[in-house]
Amino acid sequence: MSTKNEQLFLQAKKHIPGGVNSPVRAFAGVGGTPVFMHKAAGSKIYDTEDKEYIDYVGSWGPMILGHAHPKVIDAVKAAADDGLSFGTPTTFETSVADTICDIVPSVEMIRMTSSGTEATMSAIRLARGYTGRDKIVKFEGCYHGHSDSLLVKAGSGMLDIGEPTSQGVPADFAKHTITLPYNDPQAVKDCFEKWGDEIACVIVEPIAGNMNMIVPTQEFHNTLREQCTQGGAVLIFDEVMTGFRVGLRGAQGHFGIKPDLTCFGKIIGAGLPVGAFGGKREIMECIAPMGGVYQAGTLSGNPLAMRAGIAMFEDLTVDGFYEGVADKVTYLVDGIQATADKQGIELRSTKLGGMFGLFFVKDSETQVPQNFDEVTACDMDKFNTFFHGMLERGIYLAPSAYEVGFMSSKHSTEDLDATIKAAAEVFAEMAA
Ligand code: PLP
Repeated sequence: MSTKNEQLFLQAKKHIPGGVNSPVRAFAGVGGTPVFMHKAAGSKIYDTEDKEYIDYVGSWGPMILGHAHPKVIDAVKAAADDGLSFGTPTTFETSVADTICDIVPSVEMIRMTSSGTEATMSAIRLARGYTGRDKIVKFEGCYHGHSDSLLVKAGSGMLDIGEPTSQGVPADFAKHTITLPYNDPQAVKDCFEKWGDEIACVIVEPIAGNMNMIVPTQEFHNTLREQCTQGGAVLIFDEVMTGFRVGLRGAQGHFGIKPDLTCFGKIIGAGLPVGAFGGKREIMECIAPMGGVYQAGTLSGNPLAMRAGIAMFEDLTVDGFYEGVADKVTYLVDGIQATADKQGIELRSTKLGGMFGLFFVKDSETQVPQNFDEVTACDMDKFNTFFHGMLERGIYLAPSAYEVGFMSSKHSTEDLDATIKAAAEVFAEMAA
């Protein structure tokens, strides 16, 4: 007898490729059948049979205030009553732009989009238009959405001109993308020495959250800033995930680095489709209608997303908000780590602000992974066992060893204790 989820998945697959509208939802990495969710509130998410899960995915990051936050929902309801989209400027867009520019010192002007992918794609076009150069640099294991030039990984060797990782991306596009190992200052220096005057921009996840979680060294970021400044390239921080997540000023606040452009998404729309890119006035003024770099969107700056974002920023800017979320992460991760250590499970963990990473390494010698190769060397089977054990116990983690965990301000000590207890049980089974 198939379970309800299996039946729903079969039904979904009839007209939706793979049954999902974004591949990671398909549980391909961990095996098994995805859980169909139908409602959420606070720290919890509920499946179609009303089974409750403590949620550490948070819709892949946006839900830092927890699900269905009353203030956000009221703002969206009020916005819907006033009409869904006008295709004209609104004061709500100005408010969100003012708020972000006030909070993030490197952002002097900002343009809204409807997704993180559009934000990074547009930032790259802008960097190319501004510099008049074609080549872009990205890092292995960093994800910047699914636009053509960014679906590229390194070949073997330290420096390599990219090859597409997706069918349908012309090799001609990919040849302009240079992919370097993450967190490797020397590779950045070598790259600029070789191609410096051809590089339009360097785009980086300033804290990597798409190869599990890596907080790179300060030296890596200092080198990026220094090389881009010297080489006349635009430094783009992709803070779609880390923006307003690891702290009010994001990863750039943590490292004290001023990128030239920053991409946002996820949190700024409180769960509605959104993205944004902003930065130095001189660069941003190159976008149409001021400049010659074209960028547009029928639903960009959509009033529902903007009004949800405005409501959410009221809470994010309250003193102590991020310390509160970070304390919850510390409590949870330290608790899970302690129980793993006690039971002889080779777990490594990392955390910053409202984000955390859990790695199952293969032996006691291996430290917290620092780049993509070290992440891929982890024990994926162990992660999958852990994931399913937690899922059975009502703990919803991201269904992939390459993803991170997200905390909300609504997770209670009870939630965190229940999660640590579930982890202890799963570790006991794994150790047996
Ligand atoms: N950049 C980063 C760092 C992301 O994590 C993501 C999505 O997870 C994106 C860009 C793409 O954003 P979206 O899925 O909204 O297109």
